[in-house]
Amino acid sequence: MLYIDCPYCGKRAHDEFTYIGDATKKRPDGAEKNDPAWVDYVYTRDNPRGPHLELWHHSLGCREVVKVLRNILTHEILGCGRPADDIPLPEAETKP
Ligand SMILES: [Zn+2]
Repeated sequence: MLYIDCPYCGKRAHDEFTYIGDATKKRPDGAEKNDPAWVDYVYTRDNPRGPHLELWHHSLGCREVVKVLRNILTHEILGCGRPADDIPLPEAETKP
């Protein structure tokens, strides 16, 4: 069982949450509807090994969005925060 430390409710079981998606994608500003930046934002995803920033919705709790740093290989939760929070990657596990 994974436990996500919701910044609003405290530590809760992950089955109270719904995975939303990749938290590393930034919404393009002012781009046209068919702009390649939008195609990348909507469809292109990395498939990293190790730590990855994700967005989860606390659907059975406060109904807020939570940013989670999770190790994809081990499922270890390395950090949690609000969507605007900066959650640094572990030093040894940053991308080259
Ligand atoms: Zn919550």
